[in-house]
Amino acid sequence: MDLNISGLGKSFGSNVALHPTDLSIRQGKFTTLLGPSGCGKTTLLRLIAGLEQPDTGSIRFGEDILYGAGKEVPPHRRGFGMVFQDFALWPHMTVFENVAFGLRATGRKDGIQGRVMEALDKVKLSGMEQRYPHQLSGGQQQRVAFARAVATRPKLVLFDEPLSALDAVLRDEMRLEMMYLVREMGLTALYVTHDQIEAMSMSDQVIVMQGGRVLQQGSPEEIYNLPKHSFVARFIGKSNWLADGQSMFRPEHIRFEPGSEQEVQSYNTVVTQVSYVGDRYEVRLKTNEAAESWLAHYPERLGEGTELTIYVPQRYIHCLNKN
Ligand code: ADP
Ligand code: MG
Repeated sequence: MDLNISGLGKSFGSNVALHPTDLSIRQGKFTTLLGPSGCGKTTLLRLIAGLEQPDTGSIRFGEDILYGAGKEVPPHRRGFGMVFQDFALWPHMTVFENVAFGLRATGRKDGIQGRVMEALDKVKLSGMEQRYPHQLSGGQQQRVAFARAVATRPKLVLFDEPLSALDAVLRDEMRLEMMYLVREMGLTALYVTHDQIEAMSMSDQVIVMQGGRVLQQGSPEEIYNLPKHSFVARFIGKSNWLADGQSMFRPEHIRFEPGSEQEVQSYNTVVTQVSYVGDRYEVRLKTNEAAESWLAHYPERLGEGTELTIYVPQRYIHCLNKN
């Protein structure tokens, strides 16, 4: 069963947080809402969870109406789990009680002990049932929040920037762990982030948002290789633009030899800046083709002022629709 939203919109006073939006979230898939701060990601997630009331539109899960046609299913009856950025654990409850709380909130009375232990085992926190949140590290707290969200075997798990409170190393570790758990448990995930690396690496589907609107939805490869809007092309990965402002190519498609391909564009450039990033040199190039400088990856250090002819196969030059 898929989650379908139709014409869903929400304003706060005169501030439109979400313009009327249609979306489909596929069962068994990992879908990410990606966009800059303030673009409406949390609002959309909270509308789906039932924590916020829409101004317009409807939400269906399979054949069930969650919101619309005069119907409104309350949050704890929607059958969804939620993981928040600040973990939102109850400080006065033990790990066990925190996870059990989620189960009791759904009205369940039997089999709670077994479900809690099973969820804690999944996140490798067996033996920590009697600890309190303040006795745990940030990563462990996030695991408890995850266990609480999935112990109910939810139809959909909603994640709101769950890793952004963690430091960089732990964030990478937890990213891999959550990805693994979501897939292993066969969960359907809707994951909010402003981090393009998180979105690209974790997801089956990425939904890019800006200013309360969905700009593009697709697989990570589609979003990266075939961006439909300049905002998407600029927000995800690095892009080099031609003077028309509508055509772009990615730095990794630049060649330094003409090669044997039929249709190749060549451009005369001058090196303006070189940064060493460990596995390569990132080189800024000035060209008459564009006002903005271009980025290339080069295997050796080049002097500033070096004249460099670069080659880009035509098939990598992507023309965007005007928007
Ligand atoms: P994101 O999660 O992408 O950062 P949000 O959904 O939190 O974005 O916010 C979208 C817009 O709605 C922002 O302009 C934000 O200030 C506004 N907004 C969100 N929640 C509220 C609220 N409870 N009251 C007033 N404005 C809000
Ligand atoms: Mg947010």
